[in-house]
Amino acid sequence: MNSHLKKLNDINEYMTDIFLDLIYPDNISCIICNKPINKNNTYSMCKDCFNELHFILDGCIKCGKPIINCSLEEYDIDECSYCSGKEFHFDKAISCIEYNDFSKKIVFGFKYSNKTYMSRYIASIMKEKLILDGINFDYILFVPLHKSRLKKRGFNQAYKIAKYLSKEFNIPVLDCIVRKGNTKRLYKLRKKERKNELRDAFVLNKNKIYLKDKNIILVDDIFTTGATVNEISRILKLEGANLITVSTFLTGANTFSC
Ligand SMILES: [Zn+2]
Ligand SMILES: [Zn+2]
Repeated sequence: MNSHLKKLNDINEYMTDIFLDLIYPDNISCIICNKPINKNNTYSMCKDCFNELHFILDGCIKCGKPIINCSLEEYDIDECSYCSGKEFHFDKAISCIEYNDFSKKIVFGFKYSNKTYMSRYIASIMKEKLILDGINFDYILFVPLHKSRLKKRGFNQAYKIAKYLSKEFNIPVLDCIVRKGNTKRLYKLRKKERKNELRDAFVLNKNKIYLKDKNIILVDDIFTTGATVNEISRILKLEGANLITVSTFLTGANTFSC
């Protein structure tokens, strides 16, 4: 997309946000079930919906997945079986809420039902998590969509979240990662196929000159296997990025060890 078109697209997105704000003003009904709620409600959610969400308070320090001990043993599990033996190129990943049938409705509604106003609520929860975990960063980057998928969906959910975070923290978003191939849905692939699929899937554009020795947060909506953010982190580290924190809204619980 050339810069003129991009600008037009940004203006278009901005106008859509304003329009949506008029239809879905803050704090009147629950953003998930539409039940009327109190005006001062923090997350614009009713109590029932809020209680369905499992906030991740002590996720794995490496991958951010909540470690759930569902064995009969009553000892604490320190080691995350998802991470054990894995090397990541990012320094750590943090996620806000456990992925389940309920929480995924928030992201899926946002991605596939055009409820783009959700990005603001998602970003505000992610903001709190970043503050809580004391993450400092110089730039906000986001996982790009391939241009054909972007055209189909009309927006990139990760970019929308990144823009809200940028506004909240007053830290710039860099649009410097380009997705070359339209990768298949990764969760359907085996580990090795996933690696092959992702090889050379991303390149950096001219904004990359800013990355040397900088601390970065890499934003996406869901952390599943981490393969995509890992591959992006690999190329960011090659460009001299310092600390990379992957910041996502949802991640699946690590119950594989049970
Ligand atoms: Zn509700
Ligand atoms: Zn882990």
